[in-house]
Amino acid sequence: MSTLVASAYSDPTMTADPYIKQYLMTAGPTPLPPQVSQVMAEPIAYHRAPAFVEVHARALARLREVFQTSNEVLSFASSGSGAMESAVANLVVPAEPVTVASAGKFGERWLELARSFGGEVAHLDSEWGEAIQPDALDRTIKEMGRPPRAVFVTQSETSTGVVHDVRALTEVAHRHDAVIVVDAISGLGAVDLPQDEWGVDVVISGSQKSLMCPPGLGFASVGERAMALAAETSDGGRYYFDWSRTAKGQAEDPPNSPFTPAVTLWRALDVALGLILEEGLENVFDRHAVLARAARAGIEAMGLERFGPDDYGANVVTAARMPEGIDGAAVPKLMRDRYGVTAAGGQGRLNGRIVRIAHCGYFGAFDIVIALTALEAALADAGADVEPGAAAGAAQRVFSRAGRAPEPVA
Ligand SMILES: *Cc1c(COP(=O)(O)O)cnc(C)c1O
Repeated sequence: MSTLVASAYSDPTMTADPYIKQYLMTAGPTPLPPQVSQVMAEPIAYHRAPAFVEVHARALARLREVFQTSNEVLSFASSGSGAMESAVANLVVPAEPVTVASAGKFGERWLELARSFGGEVAHLDSEWGEAIQPDALDRTIKEMGRPPRAVFVTQSETSTGVVHDVRALTEVAHRHDAVIVVDAISGLGAVDLPQDEWGVDVVISGSQKSLMCPPGLGFASVGERAMALAAETSDGGRYYFDWSRTAKGQAEDPPNSPFTPAVTLWRALDVALGLILEEGLENVFDRHAVLARAARAGIEAMGLERFGPDDYGANVVTAARMPEGIDGAAVPKLMRDRYGVTAAGGQGRLNGRIVRIAHCGYFGAFDIVIALTALEAALADAGADVEPGAAAGAAQRVFSRAGRAPEPVA
């Protein structure tokens, strides 16, 4: 008898089965399209050889399309946080004012980074699960004695599911003549963020979330004004992450890299971005929107409360509040150990209180059905009163109303 049948909804003695089929359903790393995995088996290329130079140049051009910018998208061999650190290392000056607006665990990373670099930080600390309000940011900046050099915010706050109104926050920062830096590590490639059209000064991202690559590449798309501001302060505190060094290399024809690029990951990125552009950015954003609607409908059909505001732009991860009397931290463990579905629980102050269903990157309709069904089964195992199949049915009704079961290009 398979583990799934033996344990589904019933047998509390079942323990982890290492042979159960595994489903990666987290918001990062995310699953890879087979073509992306396969290209990484190619022999390692010398990074000055024509074969790699061509991949690098094409992937950089594709990055500009996905970031919707004419900026050079500066790239680092780091996780997303490395690219965040690059922004702070280039823009924060000891004892000079900056503003951080956060509403979750990742937003707070800006605070920690800015303080580490000695910035005088004004912090707008919004409730986790709520969105940062543009007028609250405006008030925070007004109350600062001196205007900030830079404002640091998060597009998709992956710890809560909230997606911020980057356009409105950008307008506020610009009203005060500050540059804005947006952490779009999970949301870029899932939710529209037209950098140049909205005038966003700096957009940060990483390879392993909506961009369908393994972890290990960090990106900073830096506009002219932010580049100029960084150039005013070139005295120490940065070397590998110095924007001008990487910008100079990448601006050569063909583009160069001042350091050894992660050649294998560049091959993967080239293929993954090709898939995103083949599907088309609009279609990619629509697919994420339908998947998010299905996740929300499934959670409600299970009788769970959704965490976070009713927001039809929140299409990266969907969080469900765990019911009273249920050990929330046990639920993702049950999902993984009994059903092979790896989903994330809550982080920081949300530990044990929520479960997050990801739909960013290489996710299609049936992934959502699987994640919801595993959540339902784990909740039943943990003693909650749920009706088998309720969530899957609700998700499927969303897909049929949308006229399609959205699937990524592969
Ligand atoms: C994942 C994530 C990060 C951290 O990225 P790493 O690649 O783990 O360094 C930062 N911000 C957001 C919004 C994220 O989703």
